[in-house]
Amino acid sequence: MKVLVINCGSSSLKFKLYDLPADDTATLMAEGLVEEIGREKSKFSYRDSRSPEKIVGDVVAKDHTQAVAAMKDMLLDAEHGLFKEKIEVDACGHRVVHGRELFSNSALVTPAVRAAIEECIGIAPLHNPPNLAGIAACEKIFPGLPQVAVFDTAFHQTMPPHVYTYGLPQDQLDRNHVRKYGFHGTSHEYVARRCAELMKKDFAQLKMITCHLGNGSSITAVKHGQSFDTSMGLTPLEGLLMGTRTGDMDPAVVLYIMDKDKLSPQEMNTLLNSRSGVKGVSGVSNDMRQVIDKAKEGHARAQLALDMFDYRLVKYIGSYVAAMGGCDAIVFTGGIGENCVPLRARVLTPLQFIGVELDPERNSSSAKEKVITRDGSRVSAWVVPTNEELMIARKTKAIIEQGHSLVR
Ligand code: ADP
Repeated sequence: MKVLVINCGSSSLKFKLYDLPADDTATLMAEGLVEEIGREKSKFSYRDSRSPEKIVGDVVAKDHTQAVAAMKDMLLDAEHGLFKEKIEVDACGHRVVHGRELFSNSALVTPAVRAAIEECIGIAPLHNPPNLAGIAACEKIFPGLPQVAVFDTAFHQTMPPHVYTYGLPQDQLDRNHVRKYGFHGTSHEYVARRCAELMKKDFAQLKMITCHLGNGSSITAVKHGQSFDTSMGLTPLEGLLMGTRTGDMDPAVVLYIMDKDKLSPQEMNTLLNSRSGVKGVSGVSNDMRQVIDKAKEGHARAQLALDMFDYRLVKYIGSYVAAMGGCDAIVFTGGIGENCVPLRARVLTPLQFIGVELDPERNSSSAKEKVITRDGSRVSAWVVPTNEELMIARKTKAIIEQGHSLVR
């Protein structure tokens, strides 16, 4: 089965085309990006499996429909395209950020599913609209092709009520659908499953902690193959210190700052989501590499941001070990988790007491997928590069094969 995976942001469209034969293998056939959608001229890049060469250029993409049309043109381009006359794909799989409690699985897009995704816009006003625009654009450009929605929140729907409920009055919880939902679910599930494969153990028997550390960061306790707890909440703001987001904080801070500085909800939202975190604390950047470089030069605020980043991670890992009553494996992924050797050492060294025995040589080896603890370590630690697009492709295939959608 060939699946076109689409990830639409407000001004970008990323796509990957996978061939997924019956034997569980997967081949990436083509990938590309349309950026700066909505401007006079948008940028595209495209590459397919026949040549490593990346093709870049300008396209007209005033909206997502024109961006999908540009993607189709690239795939059919006489000189560089993968297909000759017709795009031979079996389905599109779309990343959809928020599915609230309405989706515990991926779903074939029907009018009812579309309406349910629209219902989640209240909680995800920035993310769900471009995701829906991508779905509508693909329906228009590829009429009749099945469209599947794959939700960032779905994997976390297995969290029990005492984990996902906030300590608010019942009517607030019910009326406004306020609770912990969690994000990066596709990534956490992918790396946890892949790690279980690498461990040659049954996913359903393991207690794992997956750390997705990128510009946005979250950590998940995966107990017996299911998400048991995760650090992000109603929105991606809760939890770890992130590139530009605060993570955990006394909620009264928000009221206090809004009152003191007379900020509107929108201004406060920008402060919390875009001006805080590693960038806000360090005053340097949201880019971890730049902050690390500054800290090496003796920049005190950069060092403080790094110390806060590490500390919260250690604290979350410790709390998840307690919450699950143990842990078999800790998995690192995302730009920071996959590439930052010293960060992994700094986080795992204080966790020796739970049975993590770091192997410095393994930690600094150039392998992409690797175990980084010693043989015999009671808790093993791993690096597993995430592949959300492949997971979306596989989930899309599963839905098409099942031939049904799940809406509660
Ligand atoms: P996003 O959440 O936007 O997908 P990524 O997962 O690509 O982000 O992660 C981006 C982050 O990874 C940046 O802060 C970048 O500095 C960091 N990063 C990438 N390589 C390294 C490295 N070798 N050491 C430390 N941080 C790194």
